[in-house]
Amino acid sequence: MNTMSDHYERVKIELQQMKAVESEAAADEEQMSPASVSLVPADASSVARRDISRSSINGRSRSKSRSKADGHERQVNGKLMSDLTPQKSDYSQEKGQSSASNEQNIKGTLRLLKGKTAANGHVESCQRQTEGKCEHHGKEDGSKVAKKRRAVTVDTSKAKTSLEALKMSIRQLKWKEFPIGRRTACDIYWHGVSFHDNENIVSGQVNKFPGMIEMLRKINLSRAVRTMQELFPEEYNFYPRSWILPEEYQLFSTQIRLLKDNDSTLKPTFIVKPDSGSQGDGIYLIRDPADLRAISGSQIKQAVVQEYIQKPLLIDKLKFDIRLYVLVRSLEPLEIYIAKEGLSRFCTEPYQEPSQKNLSHVFMHLTNYSLNVHSGNFVHSDSCSTGSKRTFSSVLYRIASKGVDIKKVWSDIIALVIKTVIALVPELKVYYQADIPPGKPGPTCFQILGFDILLMKNLKPVLLEVNANPSMRIEHEQEVSPGVYEYVPSPVDEEVKVGVIRDTLRLMDPAQRKQHVTLNTGGGSPEDAIAVETGSDEKESLMDSLPTLCLKQVFPKYTKQFNNLRVVERIAAIFLRFLGVKGTMRLGPTGFRTFIRNCKLSNSSFSMASVDILYIDITRRWAGMLPDSREAGMCLQAFIEAFFYLAARRFKAVSLREQVVLLLEVCEGALEGQSHSEKPRPHRSQPTQSSAPNTFSSPALTRRHHLRQQPMQLAAKANAEN
Ligand code: ADP
Repeated sequence: MNTMSDHYERVKIELQQMKAVESEAAADEEQMSPASVSLVPADASSVARRDISRSSINGRSRSKSRSKADGHERQVNGKLMSDLTPQKSDYSQEKGQSSASNEQNIKGTLRLLKGKTAANGHVESCQRQTEGKCEHHGKEDGSKVAKKRRAVTVDTSKAKTSLEALKMSIRQLKWKEFPIGRRTACDIYWHGVSFHDNENIVSGQVNKFPGMIEMLRKINLSRAVRTMQELFPEEYNFYPRSWILPEEYQLFSTQIRLLKDNDSTLKPTFIVKPDSGSQGDGIYLIRDPADLRAISGSQIKQAVVQEYIQKPLLIDKLKFDIRLYVLVRSLEPLEIYIAKEGLSRFCTEPYQEPSQKNLSHVFMHLTNYSLNVHSGNFVHSDSCSTGSKRTFSSVLYRIASKGVDIKKVWSDIIALVIKTVIALVPELKVYYQADIPPGKPGPTCFQILGFDILLMKNLKPVLLEVNANPSMRIEHEQEVSPGVYEYVPSPVDEEVKVGVIRDTLRLMDPAQRKQHVTLNTGGGSPEDAIAVETGSDEKESLMDSLPTLCLKQVFPKYTKQFNNLRVVERIAAIFLRFLGVKGTMRLGPTGFRTFIRNCKLSNSSFSMASVDILYIDITRRWAGMLPDSREAGMCLQAFIEAFFYLAARRFKAVSLREQVVLLLEVCEGALEGQSHSEKPRPHRSQPTQSSAPNTFSSPALTRRHHLRQQPMQLAAKANAEN
């Protein structure tokens, strides 16, 4: 029963609490500029939200120029949102789906599909929560009040085009924004382009990984996936066959000529993509290698030429692609999340299979928003399920109504995403160690990636590309009267992107992460951590008012199915161990020799002189393939090639994958023995010995890339000389 003294105690507690908040705010104000305070309203109603969004957009100077970092889409839709009510993506009505499990045997996809889309527009409920706060506080006991934690701080000074969506997210979470930075450290730094947007960050978390932009350039992505295709050809057949120009021009020409000679009815088409291009810039289709542009002399531009998918799935006779948002929450341990909702971007001219006549019809073949928006047929729509840009869920509904097993489509997409990230991780770890060496103070990193996926007519997903900086713009330009432009909200983009950013922040909440670490040791997932989080009642109440997370953990959740693919990561762990000098990404000849010695790979038939020749041969050739590189020495890709060579030399008559795994076991065994005397340096974020597993299944692998053969011949020569 409540007594007067109970009541007095509660009042006292509330007073203490208010004072604590006040003094904390005063302390923060000392650190912040006045501008940062005034720009961050403590709470926002939906009306205020819309107004702020609109006025701040209009207040900005318009710029027509767009950097690659701004991502691939400019925005669609011509009208103000008439209704801010979140649109839910509830797939629970889906019926008649085949229960046959797919090859990945991913369970829980339906649950994933059933999840409520984390739409924004629940600010009203946040307000209700604010109103309900007193009631909650009335129930608080002293210990809970003492636990009340300060708001998470976010430096948004470098957020660029993601700023509007980020501001909305921070407001919904009731966190604290620092729009022009802060003298003391923030918990989270939100960068618009790269890890290096803000130099000298020594703590907290940054929303970019070092090296992600470089890794996701078209050539590097192709190389990383190709390495995996060599080891796991069936698992990585979701990426179209690609050739890297200029270095593989001859190979491309020869292979296509042979293909056509063997079967004259074959009429393959290829898509040429400049290495650093985006938004469809510079992309064109060809039917013959001779049609490659800019092959004057040795001046072939750096590009990827790729098999063109001729039979995409069509909706309303139009080709479309899917933009999915993926959060890499951590590299070590690897944690991947997928947003339940994405975007579908439609072509604006009915699709026909490529022919000489229609090859140049970009509105028929390329789904880029940036191109199609200039077509007279582009449909701006306020609805998420019509027009030239729609939510992915609306597309899934549509195809489900035709009897398609969307559960399988989703699980195939999840598998594609996990496998692609697994292909990127080894090199990302090298970048990470170079930028944030073990022992040096530095932030931890996470990143939202934009996966562009095409569904083939047979519903198989194909990876087109991955964007390090997917556009997070939630507004688009509109001509309100002749010559007068305004930025107005784009409901489809807002629906998807605010949810992705807000829930990324929720997962990166420092308190939640701590909790996650504790829970993880007991096997809990981060989503569980959010669910069980016990902070102040205010916190619980805020969590109640937010939608369920729109981000779904897929790794380590599906570790069992995919861990066997993490073979290259184990090679990278060895590479990192011998890299030595801080800040470098290249292995010197001494480091390579030490690797051979410590792993006991040299013997009477493979002398140290052969080792040196192998090193020089491979390193030199890779230096020619990476012309921009300023650093000398052996890069990870070259080391992998050397490792494959050594594996093939030692373990004959088995598949490349088996050879590599066997050699890994030899190396890891030898290094394990030494680690007692010479312990690897501890690493805050990624230990030198990878946590990647060393188990594998071994279906036959026969194909081997031609490039890997080259050093074998040369090294064989070296052997003969010694
Ligand atoms: P960009 O970075 O310039 O957008 P993409 O690789 O995303 O380059 O390609 C642009 C568009 O071209 C894609 O959105 C897709 O519509 C189309 N496209 C790309 N690769 C292929 C392919 N292999 N087969 C069919 N269409 C493709």
